[in-house]
Amino acid sequence: MKHKYIFIIGGVMSGVGKGVTTASIGKILQSCGLCVTAIKIDPYVNVDAGTMNPVEHGEVFVTDDGDETDQDMGNYERFLGTDLTSTNYMTTGRVYESVIHRERNLEYKGKCVQVVPHIPQEVIHRIKTASDRAKADVTVVEIGGTVGEYENILFLEAARMMHLESPGDVLFVLVSYLPVPSHLGEMKTKPTQHATRTLNSAGIHPDFIVCRGEHFLDRPRREKLSVFCNVHADDVISAPDVKSIYEIPALFEKQGLSSHILRKFGLKSKQQNLSAWKRMAGVQFDAKKTVKIGVVGKYFSTGDYTLSDSYISVIESLKHAAWANGAKIEMDWINSEDFEADPKKLRTLSKHDGILVPGGFGTRGIEGVIATVRCCREKRIPYLGICYGMQLATVEFARNILKLKGAHTVEVDKAAKDPIIHINPTQLKNIRENRYGGTMRLGAYACDLKPGTKVRKAYGKTNISERHRHRYEFNNDYRSALEAKGMIVSGVNKENNLVEIVELKDHPWFVGVQFHPEFKSRPLAPHPLFRDFIKAALMAKKKQSETH
Ligand code: GLN
Repeated sequence: MKHKYIFIIGGVMSGVGKGVTTASIGKILQSCGLCVTAIKIDPYVNVDAGTMNPVEHGEVFVTDDGDETDQDMGNYERFLGTDLTSTNYMTTGRVYESVIHRERNLEYKGKCVQVVPHIPQEVIHRIKTASDRAKADVTVVEIGGTVGEYENILFLEAARMMHLESPGDVLFVLVSYLPVPSHLGEMKTKPTQHATRTLNSAGIHPDFIVCRGEHFLDRPRREKLSVFCNVHADDVISAPDVKSIYEIPALFEKQGLSSHILRKFGLKSKQQNLSAWKRMAGVQFDAKKTVKIGVVGKYFSTGDYTLSDSYISVIESLKHAAWANGAKIEMDWINSEDFEADPKKLRTLSKHDGILVPGGFGTRGIEGVIATVRCCREKRIPYLGICYGMQLATVEFARNILKLKGAHTVEVDKAAKDPIIHINPTQLKNIRENRYGGTMRLGAYACDLKPGTKVRKAYGKTNISERHRHRYEFNNDYRSALEAKGMIVSGVNKENNLVEIVELKDHPWFVGVQFHPEFKSRPLAPHPLFRDFIKAALMAKKKQSETH
């Protein structure tokens, strides 16, 4: 079978859920028995997402092969249940970088290298390579940005060229937005009509229009869009706001989207099985218990808004884990700087059944995190520390149990008397030479788990692999002193002799991991550490209610 491609393009405005739409289309096709892979195209010049501020751009999602990509890649992995690689991700910067590299190597054999056709050709080459590698029947390709923007024109050009080459194998989906102005109280189709025209002027005609909006699209508007945008009414798909993104595949299926797509491709469905997925998406509404988790970090506020997108994989992992424990989840965003300004506020931590400290960088809010760790350790609140959350848990233990008052990470205090978290010479050189892009310890590394520990129990095996993204490391010079006082080193990377997991002996559940387990949690396969963390939080809650 030839590879098929579906391009997902945004109209009207950004932030309407193109990523989830792409992931959901992939999911429904996968449920028809097809092999599906997904590609994200980001139109910015950055070579990867690693150098971008997560407050503005959202989470940096790391693949097994160590690529720092866009958060949408996380949605694809979670929906499709597959591991993607750097081949599944591209940016304008990356595309130009390889064209320039080839030009320098004389690979264009003396030709003038031009923006068109050479840039779209490189894009096409990358798309086809990703499909080949995944042996995909269908590849869903999300083009970032919105039609009409200058930035994504070359990617639309690539899509148009692929359609020209093989019209039966390429489909286009426009994801649009239908506003309901409050003074009218009516859903308006005009912006979508304009977006379709703009797409037409790029030589592309949408096969489907996915209509995002507050409400379900009614018949008259569906018909209007059909006539004005030249799309069959059945191919106008409504995507109203829903409580959970995991409901969207079923919502599309109700409107027959996968069968319309298969018909246009001339393919037959081998099966249709979304039932496990639907069950998972329903648990959150049926659960009787609630677990309340405080997430203590710093990337939360931009102006008057709270941007939790910078922790999206952590949030999704917490949800998966709660549902697996038959519970609903309530999350509180806690800014660690609040504890620095007013340490009394630390008391509010015990209102939560568990505390999670996610990854982070830099100096802001760090003492607040260390105070949070201390409180969780002393008050026996279940704690999961991820990356910086593990490093600072170690610093706290060194300061308050080993009484090393000068203990710190050299990320914050270069001249720390006791550099509990330090940096290796290669990483130091990277920083000194301003080589920041793509130089952290990135991607999957093996880790051996110590028998009899909480993590060994959670994973149910001794050898695991998890994804990393950090520059600093646990300093082995302090390992035996920390262990002597009750810190358990429960996970080690043997190859590089690096401590990857620490936990506490006399505590219901206190685990710090140097890696990012959140990148591997799936709705149908919750991550064991998140699952057991939530389990411990529910136990703590139960105990609390029994003693009160
Ligand atoms: N800032 C720390 C480091 O670079 C932790 C990184 C993280 O939490 N992702 O090592």
